[in-house]
Amino acid sequence: MKIANKNLQEIGEFGLIDRIKNWMGLSSPEVLRGIGDDVAVIHQGKKALLVTTDILIEDIHFERSWIDPYHLGRKALAVNLSDIAAMGGIPKYFLISMGLPKNLSLSFVSLLYRGLKEEAKRFQVDLIGGDTSLSKKMIINVCLIGEGKSNTLLYRNGAKIGDDLYVSGTLGDSALGLKLLQDKRIKRKPKRLIEKHLIPRPRIELGQTLAQNHLASSMIDVSDGLLGDVLHLLEESRVGARIWKEYIPLSRSYQRWVQTYSEDPYELALVGGEDYELLFTASPQKRERIFSLSRSLRIAISRIGEIVKKTEGFRLIGKADESVPLNQGGFDHFK
Ligand code: ADP
Ligand code: MG
Repeated sequence: MKIANKNLQEIGEFGLIDRIKNWMGLSSPEVLRGIGDDVAVIHQGKKALLVTTDILIEDIHFERSWIDPYHLGRKALAVNLSDIAAMGGIPKYFLISMGLPKNLSLSFVSLLYRGLKEEAKRFQVDLIGGDTSLSKKMIINVCLIGEGKSNTLLYRNGAKIGDDLYVSGTLGDSALGLKLLQDKRIKRKPKRLIEKHLIPRPRIELGQTLAQNHLASSMIDVSDGLLGDVLHLLEESRVGARIWKEYIPLSRSYQRWVQTYSEDPYELALVGGEDYELLFTASPQKRERIFSLSRSLRIAISRIGEIVKKTEGFRLIGKADESVPLNQGGFDHFK
């Protein structure tokens, strides 16, 4: 059969990943989750082994002019921790592979490792190896290994019709923080937004508590923008959803600064990436327990929508009942 010679821009990042999944197949019955979830899950008796990897490339994911090596180190680990959080798992060990330019100073690398160490200590994970190579641009790839109990882990595919849809924290702060970091006109930058971009806080504790107490039916971390990640969850669960725009949680500093960059105050919260919050679904019977968990962990949790039949699609409901159908959103590397 002739493969139509499309390029990556035409098929997009997720179109490519779908094809990779088909090309490679899967033979071992011990793989409970392979390509398609936040983390790969491998059966090991009552426990499950969790493995995830994420790459950061200079001038694609970060620029040295707006992130210092210490924060870069923390972030390289944090984005992986967030994927383990999204399963309700416990992170344990990591490997780090780096491509580094020749002229990079030793102090840059040492600060990067200081950041890694800080983040590793905070979440009790140990560095166990990696790989180092020469590269024109800096490349940092972390592979994080963790564990969980097979019967408590939360996948992207468990959302049921009638479930509530929740998100932790506030959305859009990181994307707005990035715009502010890049903006040379603004001298005094709002700390909260900048920090949200530089130091994402993986929701490990929240993820574990939701999983261990069987409070949620499905979960994903919001790394590509709310709409894109909701869509991933809906696709895997084969359902639709309604989101109420006015319930989307926006921080006060976000509301203050967003007009500088966007006419629609919701845009960055809906499609800006790198929030690293948790998006999950739960049966309406769990509402009380979820809000009491939110109080005890001191993490905001907002009910932003509900799961509906797949045939009803995915809609964003605004004031005055305007209802926008959504088929895409989120960040795609090739589009
Ligand atoms: P996340 O945003 O949670 O990091 P991605 O959207 O990057 O997840 O990836 C979606 C799924 O595709 C994951 O299961 C990931 O492991 C898998 N994946 C991504 N890139 C590749 C690749 N090049 N080869 C095989 N699997 C991949
Ligand atoms: Mg993820």
